[in-house]
Amino acid sequence: MTTNDNHGFSTRAIHAGQTPDETTGAVIPPVHFSTTFAQDGIGGLRNGYEYGRGTNPTRDSLQQQLAALEGGAHAFSFASGLAAEDALLRAVLQPGDHVLMGDDVYGGTHRLVRRIFGQWGIGLTTMDFSDLDGVRTMIGQLAPKVLWLETPSNPLMKVTDVTALAEIAHDAGILVVVDNTFATPYLQTPLALGADVVVHSTTKYLGGHSDVVGGALVLNDDELASQVGFQQFAAGAVSGPMDAWLTTRGIKTLAVRMDRHCHNAQAVAEAMVGHAGVARVLYPGLDSHPGHELAARQMRGFGGMVSLDLTGGEGAARRFCESLEVFTLAESLGGVESLVNYPSEMTHASVRGTALEVPASIVRLSVGIEDAADLVADVEQALARL
Ligand SMILES: *Cc1c(COP(=O)(O)O)cnc(C)c1O
Repeated sequence: MTTNDNHGFSTRAIHAGQTPDETTGAVIPPVHFSTTFAQDGIGGLRNGYEYGRGTNPTRDSLQQQLAALEGGAHAFSFASGLAAEDALLRAVLQPGDHVLMGDDVYGGTHRLVRRIFGQWGIGLTTMDFSDLDGVRTMIGQLAPKVLWLETPSNPLMKVTDVTALAEIAHDAGILVVVDNTFATPYLQTPLALGADVVVHSTTKYLGGHSDVVGGALVLNDDELASQVGFQQFAAGAVSGPMDAWLTTRGIKTLAVRMDRHCHNAQAVAEAMVGHAGVARVLYPGLDSHPGHELAARQMRGFGGMVSLDLTGGEGAARRFCESLEVFTLAESLGGVESLVNYPSEMTHASVRGTALEVPASIVRLSVGIEDAADLVADVEQALARL
């Protein structure tokens, strides 16, 4: 079957870019490992295929699938989330330009702009994007080229108003980039909310099984797409065929996985509220969360990430991470298995000593799709040991 824009999310996830193989009818299109493609006479390319860095049918399938899910005209797949971010920034920035970033983004994104792009004359300022008047003032002062936000944010689960920020930024001609890794297109579609570019670490929920590293960009503007496409081709940080295929396979079950992630995260978050060892439960699905109403408006569910601020500080946070039994202590997130992470020393070590430093009392849970009762019991037994 073919897909169109009117099909529902799961129909698009399963069928977009997944036409059965023309030669054999194989329902799952083959993984194309070939690095080069035969030409019918010099320059006689078959369907545009020439060399694997430029185009590959398996990568094309993934890109069509991603574009269909984010509602974008163009998608580009990369070897990692950071490779995608790097390609985008090189496509839009010139030395002397400035990036205005939320103060609670993925540590590696901040490190990329500060330490790599900083050397090439790019300025970086971070701030709290919930302060819309502050954003207007800062834009007036800095005239940034790019506004970069992440919502919900990592690891403090702050929710940012994409539509309001996009309006403010567009009045000043600024490109709005949203890292949609935590929410996924099942729960949030930033292009529809007014953003210009969506960034993904497909390593997380899209891949969904903690077995493939990848990244993606989705956008509508044809001119920007040709600049990004040139970066993808000319700098070459593309995803390999096997990685692209694993990501495609993961995406087909995204909707059912996300429903379970949301359900389990809500159960874990609610069980932690009011617990003696827990000062704050950071989960946008709780009425008490400052971003709850905004999240309910701009998202279709609250996601699978829950952070806890423990009353016992650093010592308690470390003990908690090391006491869990079903949750595995590991970096990353978004897989079917539950993980616990100690951000200040693991995922966010690179932002220590900056304004983005994560408090030592914070632990971050990537709530998986195991049985909710087992996850709640695990968190409770770890808290009982503090
Ligand atoms: C992991 C992550 C990235 C970076 O992606 P990689 O695939 O590890 O390069 C970017 N943003 C967010 C929100 C992430 O969680």
